[in-house]
Amino acid sequence: MNIRRAIVAGAGLAGLSAAVALTEAGVRVSLNDSAAQAGGRCRSYHDPALGLTIDNGNHLVLAGNAAVTAWRRAIGAGEPLAGPDHADFAFADLVSGARWTVGINDGRLPWWTLSSRRRVPGTGLADYFRLARLLRGGSGRIGDVIAPGGPLWDRLVAPVLLAALNTPPAEASAALAGRVLRETLGQGGLAMRPRIAQPTLGAAFVDPALAWLGARDVPLAAGRRLRALEFSGDTVSALVWSDGREAVGDGEAVILAVPAWVALDLVPGITAPDDHRAIVNAHFAFPATPDMPRMLGLLGGSAEWLFAHDDRISLTISAADAIARNDRAELARTLWGDVQRALGITAPLPPWQIVKEKRATFAATPAQDALRPPVRTRWRNLFLAGDWVRNGLPATIEGALRTGDSAARLAMGRPLIY
Ligand SMILES: Cc1cc2nc3c(=O)[nH]c(=O)nc-3n(C[C@H](O)[C@H](O)[C@H](O)COP(=O)(O)OP(=O)(O)OC[C@H]3O[C@@H](n4cnc5c(N)ncnc54)[C@H](O)[C@@H]3O)c2cc1C
Repeated sequence: MNIRRAIVAGAGLAGLSAAVALTEAGVRVSLNDSAAQAGGRCRSYHDPALGLTIDNGNHLVLAGNAAVTAWRRAIGAGEPLAGPDHADFAFADLVSGARWTVGINDGRLPWWTLSSRRRVPGTGLADYFRLARLLRGGSGRIGDVIAPGGPLWDRLVAPVLLAALNTPPAEASAALAGRVLRETLGQGGLAMRPRIAQPTLGAAFVDPALAWLGARDVPLAAGRRLRALEFSGDTVSALVWSDGREAVGDGEAVILAVPAWVALDLVPGITAPDDHRAIVNAHFAFPATPDMPRMLGLLGGSAEWLFAHDDRISLTISAADAIARNDRAELARTLWGDVQRALGITAPLPPWQIVKEKRATFAATPAQDALRPPVRTRWRNLFLAGDWVRNGLPATIEGALRTGDSAARLAMGRPLIY
């Protein structure tokens, strides 16, 4: 398809990715979002309770995430992502007090599994051989491929997969887990290095994209909600926005980069994931000191990961549907208890904020994964983008960026990268 203009609905990372790829190729882009700001589920904002700019939630990417690297380069994101030189993952067991660091070696040959100083305490080489089965994926649940339980599962596999899939790992899709592991762990420790947005998600992902697009005459039309699509034969003929109707003519394409539940309402006959999992984040106005680990896996508490930023400490709870129903003040007190035990501090509860994202990601089960539609639709000028669109990965920044790029490429009739 030869297009001169594209209309992008949704300015989360998928929509931004599509807008950048189209603009780069010389296509005129109209970028729209129903919210007051871009970024969608990956956003930063000033929180008056803390007097700080915080992220809706801690977001971790891995150095091997190809689309993240390529896209940040394309938009000229200056601030590097933070993270260690090697794939070292520090853990603390808040019940027993045990602490360990898993040290994955840089290269592809996984000799770290031979070293008792680098591997998970209490594990042997045979455990890692069993884990390797997961690299192949499979069509069922993770629990069908490897037996849950045991020190390797409890102390490394479960916390890492829970963070990646936002779904209790035993019931999550082996295919999605396998793909994540093949693209990161399978490429060696350098690809597995954790990377964190600094100082915020906005600064790392959203603001540079908006600046790049703005400099090319692609402003964000914020507060513009897409209410309906009109179809004629095999094309979308018009879009009905909150501020009026817009005809879609020849040489124009529509990229629908809205969440799954919005797309299900707008596009007749598509399937999409319809079961979502929550993520709860707690943010404490407590500046990290240089001796604190920047990222710490927690076992035996309420949260699973602690992130220490220069101006705040944040905790993440994944698959948090049950806990998201708890009272916020009670959650703040409980989670500050986790921080105290993890960091060995006695400081009283500082100013806090609890952010509950009830539909953070789709449930990464085989059944939900099977509902993901492809980027291309049966209308030749309508393309879907979003972490929920089929891309082989769970709902991630990497997947969202890939589908945005793919939607742009299909709209322009260009070969796909991902
Ligand atoms: C708390 C939390 C923690 C996470 N942690 C990680 C992590 O560690 N690593 C990782 O890789 N991923 C993580 N994720 C997932 C990641 O944030 C998402 O995969 C990604 O941001 C999805 O981007 P998207 O563009 O597909 O969707 P969205 O961000 O949902 O963007 C959709 C956009 O569409 C807009 N919109 C909705 N309806 C309309 C309409 N009718 N008209 C116009 N616009 C509309 C919305 O306002 C939104 O801006 C996390 C998510 C959350 C919530």
